[in-house]
Amino acid sequence: LWQSVPLAPPDSIFKLTATYKADTFPQKVNLGVGAYRDDDNNPWVLPVIKKATQIILNDDKLDHEYLPITGLPEFTSAAAKLILGANSLAIADGRVSSVQTISGTGANHLGALFLSRFYGWDAEKKVYLSNPTWANHQAIFRNVGIEPVDYPYYDPATIGLDYKGFINSLETAPPRSVFLLHACAHNPTGVDPTQEQWKAIADVMLAKNHYAFFDCAYQGFASGDLDNDAWAVRHFVDRAVPMLVCQSFAKNAGLYGERVGALLVIAPSAEGANRVRSQLSVLQRSEISNPPSHGARLVSLVLNDTGLFEEWKRDIRTMASRIIEMRKELHRLLTEELKNPRNWDHILNQIGMFSFTGISPDQSKALIEKAHIYLTANGRISMAGLNSHNVRYFAENLDKVTRG
Ligand code: PMP
Repeated sequence: LWQSVPLAPPDSIFKLTATYKADTFPQKVNLGVGAYRDDDNNPWVLPVIKKATQIILNDDKLDHEYLPITGLPEFTSAAAKLILGANSLAIADGRVSSVQTISGTGANHLGALFLSRFYGWDAEKKVYLSNPTWANHQAIFRNVGIEPVDYPYYDPATIGLDYKGFINSLETAPPRSVFLLHACAHNPTGVDPTQEQWKAIADVMLAKNHYAFFDCAYQGFASGDLDNDAWAVRHFVDRAVPMLVCQSFAKNAGLYGERVGALLVIAPSAEGANRVRSQLSVLQRSEISNPPSHGARLVSLVLNDTGLFEEWKRDIRTMASRIIEMRKELHRLLTEELKNPRNWDHILNQIGMFSFTGISPDQSKALIEKAHIYLTANGRISMAGLNSHNVRYFAENLDKVTRG
């Protein structure tokens, strides 16, 4: 048995972390992992989440019963308000179906599965993904029979957005194509469209009747402000672009392993939303039966209590500000102290946890092999892996490898 099962390669990001852990070099640096670290390189449990955990521990009435199939209602309704806005007309009209999922990955999966079954495809099932994108997107869509195709997104020449290529792809794709859009803090590039560009993207999406599959894994992490980071999603809802949104609370609530997320599908009418919700519920039942309760309870407490919500916003600003500080310090060291001849402005301009440095796969490899600095081959670094103790060491080595 299993003679014909080929050996699969290990996941590259998880492998990178394992190699970093096994490395005994004292000054080793891990810039691969997409998780926030504090200035001492430790995982950070948000103070507001510690508080919410205490509240749960002290609640004698809590039990371990199953949640409803579509999740904890207080969580899903608050999560929808968080991304669409407390005064969202779509919510008031009852046009939003929200389902609790296994973090952002589960939201992507359920969204993809729902589209695969019910989108009413005119031809072959295809999804347009930004080139590059989060490494898991391709597999998630392939798993449900949707073929991923690339749309231009990143321009290596400017280390910025290939806006023309992106718009051209929207214009030339067949009508009713599905485009996956990163709501903010694009992974892996850290390059986001401006508000003006988002408006023009929405214009073409409407003209071509395309479907927007928003993936929002970093709300709050891009600008430090939850509403700002939801701007594109809210703009698309206001313009009535057909769409769904995948939400993750892994990064902004530091709840990586608790797997807290939601899928929101926005329908043209309340009656349509009801039918959508009924089918999402059927799909969810066969996939996971019902979602886990602990993380959703924590987030629900934070979202539904004014005091805790304000504290959460402060915690998010703490994380976002530390990352922005690291961007500034890395830029200062490279340009002012080390006088590296390259332009490093993209380090300042890019948004969120990740930065595309623009270095080559060979230079990334040299950083790993010669300096014990771990990063992905595409030159992406997680700014959260930098801190006041290691940023100079990283800048010096980045300076060295880019001088050749
Ligand atoms: N989408 C994107 C773009 C991501 O970067 C991530 C996390 N790396 C996710 C979705 C999903 O993460 P999780 O399942 O941990 O919420």
